[in-house]
Amino acid sequence: MTKYEAIIIGGGPAGLAAGLYTSRAGLKSLLVERGLFGGQIVNATLVENYPGFPEGISGSELGSLMHQQTVKYGLEVITAEVTGITTGQPYGVSTTEGNFEAVSIIIAAGSEYRKLGVIGEERLSGHGVSYCATCDGFLFRDREVAVVGGGDAAITDALELSRHARKVHVIHRRDQLRAGQILQQRVFAHPKLEFIWDTVVEEVIGEELVKGLRLTNVKTEQHSILEVAGVFVAVGLMPNSRSFFNIVDLDDAGYIITDETMATSAPGIFAAGDIRRNSARQVAAAVGDGVTAAMSAFKYLQERS
Ligand code: NAP
Repeated sequence: MTKYEAIIIGGGPAGLAAGLYTSRAGLKSLLVERGLFGGQIVNATLVENYPGFPEGISGSELGSLMHQQTVKYGLEVITAEVTGITTGQPYGVSTTEGNFEAVSIIIAAGSEYRKLGVIGEERLSGHGVSYCATCDGFLFRDREVAVVGGGDAAITDALELSRHARKVHVIHRRDQLRAGQILQQRVFAHPKLEFIWDTVVEEVIGEELVKGLRLTNVKTEQHSILEVAGVFVAVGLMPNSRSFFNIVDLDDAGYIITDETMATSAPGIFAAGDIRRNSARQVAAAVGDGVTAAMSAFKYLQERS
């Protein structure tokens, strides 16, 4: 079984930054990624808040540049899903493409879209229910669509959709947005956007394609039907920590608990990016976490030798 000094789980900004630092530090390193390199940002049309790109940069391009830079320094990379970690030193890392040993591990597996969990959502996913406005927005040219959520993602999605759709309804469960002020200023005067406050989705209606949403106003308890051809769910993210619950401590929401060195409750296992508790959930913060985790892993290895 191949033994690595560092195995990095996840190829988003946190994992790629960690891999850049472990490989440049001369550690025998492997990065395991199950999908696309770049993580959540590959879905972003334009990333405007990552330093160094005054005009902004597309998320997929940024992810691709990070990947190119990282592998240049000898990082080994495989496409596989990590299915578990076994305790002991070295740790065993089992993946869908084989098993490996690691003296240190950096978990940077990120997060995935939270679902509404209502009738029709799963059945009509890909048939009008979407979690990615950048990917699917163009399918709704001149149609009426809804976005569910009140955070940065929901508002960014609504703005993206307004480029294609005739009208975009933003359905939020409260009467105030969570999204940042700059985004809020851009949307309130927007002619194509309409806000439906204090309202939750009870059901996504449609046989083969989305036809509408069954809504309830949480203050008045009034029910209504909104006819839309598509619904974009943007109600936050959930950590991809299911495979690690038996090896590191998680908080109640499933985020990995770390200290400021990115150390988890297990010696030699570090966590970085969106998967850890109190992450700022920004690309720049994920990069910083990855660098810190890599430097901590390096120190851990030095202290053992
Ligand atoms: P978020 O900030 O956690 O917002 C989630 C939104 O969904 C909140 O408005 C929340 O309502 C609502 N919500 C949660 N569960 C719900 C449910 N079951 N039913 C209905 N509504 C529900 O998540 P996010 O918008 O995905 O953003 C995640 C992180 O990425 C944030 O740190 C954000 O700043 C960052 N981000 C930044 C940008 C950018 O352009 N800079 C773009 C996207 C994301 P409440 O407000 O009532 O809790």
